[in-house]
Amino acid sequence: MIMGKVICTYCGKDAVSIEEHEIELSEPYGGSSTVKIKEKVCSHCGFVEDDDSNDLVIQKELSMLKRISMVKVLDELNAMGHTTASMERALGLPARTIARWKNERSMSPSASAIALMRIIRTYPWALAVADMQFDHVAARKILLQHAAKELVKIRAEHPEYTVTSSAQKSENHLELFIKVSKESIPETVSSGNYVFESLR
Ligand SMILES: [Zn+2]
Repeated sequence: MIMGKVICTYCGKDAVSIEEHEIELSEPYGGSSTVKIKEKVCSHCGFVEDDDSNDLVIQKELSMLKRISMVKVLDELNAMGHTTASMERALGLPARTIARWKNERSMSPSASAIALMRIIRTYPWALAVADMQFDHVAARKILLQHAAKELVKIRAEHPEYTVTSSAQKSENHLELFIKVSKESIPETVSSGNYVFESLR
């Protein structure tokens, strides 16, 4: 027991002790970390209550992880060739906005700034769409070009899979399909045994 007399809010007895335990927190692109939180446990009735100090501890750690995530996201976008200035221009942000998010340790970027940059990091080609003033036709073209590149990548990463895709329009519907299938029939079809083995 750390504190003097702590009264259980459930049964009213002063049998409450403080127990510490660790919880893990994480943020997208920011990794994870653990913090110690306190719980008030009543040895009389078993009632467990969160300590009031926990919220602050959790908020502080989460805002640190958010900062880390913002810096990481911006570093990675820079490494991909998107300069801070070019991103500000494409997104119509005042000059040095992103630079400040990245470099000013004292400021914490807003939740919407973090959300925006996480989306850009996940779909970096959205910057090209923004560069085209969000023109609908250009946006569609960029999306499809990117989808094609992703399919080529999947093919390279998984040579054992066949990737086929097609889009066709009939009188009243548009059909788009992307099929990823594992080759099941070995190339040595000439030998009957192999075929039976693969069909089993
Ligand atoms: Zn109690």
